[in-house]
Amino acid sequence: MPLVPMRQMLDEAAKGGYGVGAFNVNNMEQIQAIMEAARETRSPVVVQASRGARKYTNDKFLYHLMQAAAELYPEIPMALHLDHGNSFETCRSAIELGFTSVMIDGSLREDGKTPSDFKYNVELTRKVVDFAHARGVSVEGEIGTLGGIEDGHGAGGSGLEHLTDPDQAVGFVRETGADALAVAIGTSHGAYKFSVKPTEAVLKISLIKKIHELLPATHLVMHGSSSVPQELRDQVNKYGGRLKPAWGVPVEEIQEGIRHGVRKVNVDTDSRLAVTGAIRKVFAEAPEKFDPRDYLKPAREAMQQVVAERMRQFGQAGHAGDYQAKTLEEMAELYAGAPKAGSGCSCCCGGHGKGKKK
Ligand SMILES: [Zn+2]
Repeated sequence: MPLVPMRQMLDEAAKGGYGVGAFNVNNMEQIQAIMEAARETRSPVVVQASRGARKYTNDKFLYHLMQAAAELYPEIPMALHLDHGNSFETCRSAIELGFTSVMIDGSLREDGKTPSDFKYNVELTRKVVDFAHARGVSVEGEIGTLGGIEDGHGAGGSGLEHLTDPDQAVGFVRETGADALAVAIGTSHGAYKFSVKPTEAVLKISLIKKIHELLPATHLVMHGSSSVPQELRDQVNKYGGRLKPAWGVPVEEIQEGIRHGVRKVNVDTDSRLAVTGAIRKVFAEAPEKFDPRDYLKPAREAMQQVVAERMRQFGQAGHAGDYQAKTLEEMAELYAGAPKAGSGCSCCCGGHGKGKKK
């Protein structure tokens, strides 16, 4: 299947009442692991690359690996998404390369560290939306600021400093016309999210419910949503790793989010742990091995296993065959026919306006 616009994928997920995992990639084996997991579970999937991943791979490689995946897995709808774009230029270059979706994270300044203000965020996001929608490409914005730092991107902190304000979220969506909205509810990027099993005091699922009530047509995105399972951490540490104890976002909390409008769930750390645990095991048990395939193959299999598990847990499993991919041209026409963002639309669509046209 050709690469699918993420908006279509999330609209379908909303209809079906499920979430779609968005898994980060940096190399061929990770793409293969995700695609095999998608085939195994018959799942639509978002494959996403951060700025760091684009730099690491030289994103031409990444794009053509994704084209190969589209050819080899014709039954799987997949979107290629830019994770945490920091500027209009970063988003523009991703769109021109062939990404079908971009995130513009205007919650931070271009340095990817300093929290910005509402006006800056709206203006930047709106500019990206105008450019992207004219080309049929989907846009994810962010309001509120996540905790932690990943790939050099993030405000740091616990994630509780800049939670999403629900009323601001409404204004943001109305002014920008973004397709999806990343919300800050206490989650952080990286392996060390919480020091104990999170409760509502630090992981505010109630905030998701509130935002979803105000913006029922907006697709919500949970970032930093690895569960950091103890068995994956133990595997790394058993073979010489030194990971500290930590809690991620429990799967049942993600599922509660999905019941309240979360349609995209970002997972990276769990994949990294699976890959590292498998490689460490080979190195520890068979130190005579030196062919990279001897450790990359088990690494790929371990990642496939955790990704497939998440696909089942998020509910996307079994939905690969539900729809035909829309082309970017078709999406561009749909956007062109929808009411313009910021045009004062205050009907039931919450200013989103675009979910109605089919
Ligand atoms: Zn993120």
